[in-house]
Amino acid sequence: MRGKLRVLPPMPSVPASSPPARIKFWGTRGSIAVPGPETLRYGGNTTCVELRADGEIIVLDAGSGIRPLGVALQKEFQARPVNLSLLITHAHWDHIQGFPFFKPAYDSNNQIRIFGFDGAGATFREIITEPMRSPFFPITMRELSAKMDINKLSEMKFSLGKVEIHAAFVNHPGVCAGYRIFTTAGSIAFLPDYEPYEFFLHSTRGNQLSPERAKKTAADERASLVEFLHGSDILILDGQYTDEEYRRHIGWGHGSVSSAVALALDAEVHNLLLFHHDPGHGDQMVDKMVEFAHALVAKSGKPLEVGAAQEGAEIPLEAKIAA
Ligand SMILES: [Zn+2]
Ligand SMILES: [Zn+2]
Repeated sequence: MRGKLRVLPPMPSVPASSPPARIKFWGTRGSIAVPGPETLRYGGNTTCVELRADGEIIVLDAGSGIRPLGVALQKEFQARPVNLSLLITHAHWDHIQGFPFFKPAYDSNNQIRIFGFDGAGATFREIITEPMRSPFFPITMRELSAKMDINKLSEMKFSLGKVEIHAAFVNHPGVCAGYRIFTTAGSIAFLPDYEPYEFFLHSTRGNQLSPERAKKTAADERASLVEFLHGSDILILDGQYTDEEYRRHIGWGHGSVSSAVALALDAEVHNLLLFHHDPGHGDQMVDKMVEFAHALVAKSGKPLEVGAAQEGAEIPLEAKIAA
């Protein structure tokens, strides 16, 4: 397997030895940005997570949260070059819309590699470049000053320097990837948009299959996802809906608190962070969902840590693993 791995050279922006390896949440919201007093604690920006480990800066998705990330990187690096890799899960607006406002892309000192898969009816290059053209935006991707490198993924395993990355396609409308990122400080799984496979048993798509076939498909798909996630130190997972809301949104492409907890327990992950918060959920509602998740974990008797991703929060990886 190793022999076939596509290895891209490291692009160190930070000294490999600089502790601690960590993730930082710049956008945790699903669907659309919702700034305001109701979302101050968990955040209003859409999907963007920064990972620093083994000398690399790896950015997960480019929702509106990538704008404040860009501002922070400029402030930190000043005249030093920012070299980073951006992994895109899929083409939905809440995962790409912030990129035109990512300041490091406008500085010729910087180098940005972007990775992702072709979408339904669009190549990966189109997904990245089309939103940045007239009449949608006044500056094209070609006009950006940074050295831009758009990489269509066709393989499910590759590596960025020392960091090995595995990808899996997950249940979400269109083409949507999840990533598992293996660093020397532990592994992080990132599935911001994912609906449990049990939807096959309830949806119109499932109704096209016989009940036995739908049941088997759901069980097989879920088993391979459990294997993909198994033993992750941190799992950042779609937990957009309460269980009651989910029953009214089957087939919309998102999960519920109890499905997220069940998946994390089955995959024996260490720390589950509910993610892709519903734009209609204020901070108090997210608190309640976390409380419910804690109750489910307590009932299971298993040692899963669970919380909800919070914009601005940093999680040191080694500390988390030692805990
Ligand atoms: Zn989304
Ligand atoms: Zn989506």
